[in-house]
Amino acid sequence: MKEITVKSTNNIQFIDITSKIREIAAQSGIANGICYVFVPHTTAAITINENADPDVIKDITNALNKLVPLNSNYSHSEGNSAAHIKAGLLGFSLSIFLQDKALQLGTWQGIFFAEFDGPRTRKVWVKIV
Ligand code: ZN
Repeated sequence: MKEITVKSTNNIQFIDITSKIREIAAQSGIANGICYVFVPHTTAAITINENADPDVIKDITNALNKLVPLNSNYSHSEGNSAAHIKAGLLGFSLSIFLQDKALQLGTWQGIFFAEFDGPRTRKVWVKIV
């Protein structure tokens, strides 16, 4: 298993980690398999979406903020329930096909680490089987 360190600089931030995952896949020595990407956190997530037009991520962020307001009589005393809920909506793992040593992503797809309670230093685990 490989670990990537991701440093977020904002409270909510989508960080494109596609090139880092491609690099790990290329160096794995495995030509055909599955690349698992896992985020071991409860207020950050991993997701695939368009990385060509940055407005897409801007719109996703705005929509998530509307769906899950920062304050809403939450019970969790740490005060970051909105971050837990947003992370839960996007999810904590991905599985991507690896074929002929190349990650099989769609033309417009990128892999994003999604921070919802930053800034923090975070981990992403990658395993290719
Ligand atoms: Zn919490």
